[in-house]
Amino acid sequence: MTPINGSCLCGAVRFEIIGRPRSLSYCHCSRCRKQAGVFAAVLMVRREDFRLLSGADEIRRYTPEPPWKHVRAFCGRCGSPLGEPSDEHELFPIAASSLDDDPGVRPVLHMNVESKPAWYEITDGVKQIAGTYGG
Ligand SMILES: [Zn+2]
Ligand SMILES: [Zn+2]
Repeated sequence: MTPINGSCLCGAVRFEIIGRPRSLSYCHCSRCRKQAGVFAAVLMVRREDFRLLSGADEIRRYTPEPPWKHVRAFCGRCGSPLGEPSDEHELFPIAASSLDDDPGVRPVLHMNVESKPAWYEITDGVKQIAGTYGG
């Protein structure tokens, strides 16, 4: 399969995904909203399929205070969200916003829909899970 390329805004961080991603979904929780914009498009990737090509030294990680979970990686130079690439998890989220290529999968779910802002309306037919995370 052709690698799926990704990079941050400034180009310091570059990676490729060499296997088919597991899933693509939208998260509307307040944590994703504050980091990613209105919502995050979350691509779940197997660790064995992810190759960091450059920028390891630029990657910063934000670890939230409890009760929040989910470490968030981003480029320390340009601030682009990267998801949570990790050596510790078999499967982890990558920010689909950082992709330069079509990952070949399409969104299957809107998560934490109760947390989305009132001014943002979901208008597609993708399945929605109410849920809330962070109000
Ligand atoms: Zn960058
Ligand atoms: Zn979220």
